[in-house]
Amino acid sequence: MKCRNRVLLLPLVVIFGLALVVPASLAQQRRLVSIASGWVVGVYYPLAGAMSRIVYKVKDLNLRATVESSGASVANAQLIGTGDADFALLQNDIAFYAYNGVTLSAFKDKPIKNMGAVFTIYPELVHVVVTKASGVKTVRDLRGRKVVLGPQGSGTEANALQLLEAYGLQESDLGKAERIDAAAAADQLKDGRVDAAFFTTGMGSAVILDMFISGKAALVPVAGSEAEAMKKKYPFYTSVTVPANTYKDQSEATTVAVMAMMVARSDLPEDLVYRFTKAIFDDLKQFHAAHSAATHLTLETALSGNPIPLHPGAAKFYKEKGILR
Ligand code: GLU
Repeated sequence: MKCRNRVLLLPLVVIFGLALVVPASLAQQRRLVSIASGWVVGVYYPLAGAMSRIVYKVKDLNLRATVESSGASVANAQLIGTGDADFALLQNDIAFYAYNGVTLSAFKDKPIKNMGAVFTIYPELVHVVVTKASGVKTVRDLRGRKVVLGPQGSGTEANALQLLEAYGLQESDLGKAERIDAAAAADQLKDGRVDAAFFTTGMGSAVILDMFISGKAALVPVAGSEAEAMKKKYPFYTSVTVPANTYKDQSEATTVAVMAMMVARSDLPEDLVYRFTKAIFDDLKQFHAAHSAATHLTLETALSGNPIPLHPGAAKFYKEKGILR
């Protein structure tokens, strides 16, 4: 019996063996690149997915882009630094701190120089979401509360700490400070296990929509003298208003925002990044369809708010289009 099984198994081993060999050899025809994105419930992730599909369609580009989820900005800059990601989405403030090795302990005296800009995309708003039950009306009211500062390795966490500072608070003034995954933060907020959570993400981000659908969330504005002081100290921040009912039953609120951007590892070939960039701009329709925040990407605004040198491949594309001299 045993022996018969072995005989029967043999052709299967051969077939499976072939199955492993054939797709691998086919895949070799396409160069594999990775895009470090962000939260599955955020905006980076669907955008990176759209870019992956767009570049796959361009046959002569011969690329297959895999999309990795991550804590986001800070982790993504580090993945570029170590060569573990080829492209990455991240916040423009974090890109600046990383490239220049300043402001954040993750980058101080450890600048990430092998990173070139590809384009900036859309404003990412610092959403300070609180439970209605908490009664929190301003960032100052977070003293003594349970707060999620953001996921580990996020740009959100950096923004949360800068915001607390602007309102005269430090992490140690909070009742509890957590660094957890964005989806988990939303669950904890809905369950009332935390009073507040920070999310720096595009307007209409799935994670924020979800918390407001529960009917238990409210948005805390970041405006007035504190916001002005913060914009002065950290010039990447701008003010953006979230119109009423962007999220279910939410009242209009102004907050601060940075910009989402795409970067590439500097040692990726110029031609590859040139053709990647061209592929996205040649199919803006599909890119825009990925998320309402994606509609902000246009050729005319692709360089606004970019704080680091362009990747030579991207620069070549913008020169050709006449938007860079
Ligand atoms: N900007 C976020 C961060 O770096 C990620 C947002 C997203 O994935 O939409 O913390």
